[in-house]
Amino acid sequence: MKCIINGKLILKDKVAENMAIVFDEKIEKIANLNEINTADYEIIDAKGMYVAPGLVDMHIHGYLGADASDGDAEGIKKMAMGIIKNGVTAWCPTTMTVSKKEIETAFDTVREVKNSNEYYGSRILGVNSEGPFINAAKKGAQAEEHILKPDADFIIENADIVKLFTVAPEVDGAIECIKKVTEKTDVLVSMGHTDASYDEALKGIEAGVRHTTHLFNAMTALSHRSPGVVGAALADDKVTTELIADTFHVNKGLFGLVAKLKGDKLCLITDCIRAGGMEDGDYTLGGQPVHKEGIKCLMPDGTIAGSVLNLNNAVFNLYENSDLEIYEAVNCASLYPARALGEDKEIGSLEEGKRADIIIADEKFNINKTILGGTIRYEGGKN
Ligand SMILES: [Zn+2]
Repeated sequence: MKCIINGKLILKDKVAENMAIVFDEKIEKIANLNEINTADYEIIDAKGMYVAPGLVDMHIHGYLGADASDGDAEGIKKMAMGIIKNGVTAWCPTTMTVSKKEIETAFDTVREVKNSNEYYGSRILGVNSEGPFINAAKKGAQAEEHILKPDADFIIENADIVKLFTVAPEVDGAIECIKKVTEKTDVLVSMGHTDASYDEALKGIEAGVRHTTHLFNAMTALSHRSPGVVGAALADDKVTTELIADTFHVNKGLFGLVAKLKGDKLCLITDCIRAGGMEDGDYTLGGQPVHKEGIKCLMPDGTIAGSVLNLNNAVFNLYENSDLEIYEAVNCASLYPARALGEDKEIGSLEEGKRADIIIADEKFNINKTILGGTIRYEGGKN
C-alpha cells in the first residue's frame, strides 16, 4: 500500500492540506496526516505540490505522430503512453469523418487495444466518433466527401466501444437517429459541426442530445436575435459542453463566462491531433494537410484543424483566466467529463473507493507524477 504525503490534495469541493491519501489499486483512505501511521506504507512525498485526480480527455485525435483514425494499434498505444506525461489517465480516442470503412477499422483497433490484458498506457474508455453525421456547412477540418446521413444502427452496432458521437441535429434523419440511439444505448449524443438554428438545437436536445462538441467551434454562433447552437448549449442545464481552452480556438476572455454559465457541465478537452508533442511542421488530420506552428494547426485555406494542447495546460489556462478555484478547474478535466461519460463511480475525483488514478502537479500544473490504478507510470519534471 502507498501513501502520498505533503501534498495539496485537490478534492472535488476544496483543496486540503495536511492530509494524506492511502491507496493500492483503489483509494483506500483520505485522512488527516496525524491519523495515519506512515511507517505502514510506501511513502510518496509530494513536496508541497498538488495531488489531483487523473485527468480525462474525452476528445483527442492524435499525439506524437499517431492518430486514432489510422487504425493502427501501435499508434493507439503510442498515444496512450504519451498522454500519461500530461496527467491523462483515461481517454477517448477520437475518430474523424473519414470513410466508413476507415471508421470501422479504427473502432476495431481501439477495441483490440482496450480489451487486451497488457498494460498499454492511459486507460481507454471508448471511442469518441466525431461525425460522420455532420453538416458540410460547418465541416471545419472534416472531409466533406465522407459525411453520411445519420445512421442510428451504425452507432447501436458499435455501442460496445463508442462512448459518444457527434451529430448535426438539423440534417435530414438526425432527430430519428438521436431518439433511436438514446432509446437503445447509453452512448452520449453530442451536437457539433452543425449549422442548426437555436430552435433546431433545442429539438435535438429534446430528442436526446446531452453534449456539445467543442463549444463555439464549427457551430452557429450566439447572436441576440438568433442564439444559435452556442446559445442553446449555454442555456440548457441538461447539456454538457466541451471547451478547447488553448487560448486560440476560443478567446481566453470567455473562459470564465462559460465556466459561470455551465458550472459542473463544462468539460475541458484537447482536440489534439497527431502534431501534438511534435515539432512545428506539416502533418495530416483525417487525410487532409495541416501545418503546425506554435499552438496553431491550420489547413492550407486557413481553417483551424484541431490543436496541440495538453490537458494539464488546459486546466492551468482555465484557472489562470477565470475566477475558478484550482479544484474547480481540475473538476472540468476530471470529474465532469467522467460524469458525462457515466464513469464517475470509478474515476474523476479523489474519493475513497475510486480507482487510484492520481497525478502530482506543480503550481503551473506541469505534471510531476502520474499514477494509474495505484502504479506510478510517469515520473519526471516538466513535460
Ligand atoms: Zn475533434
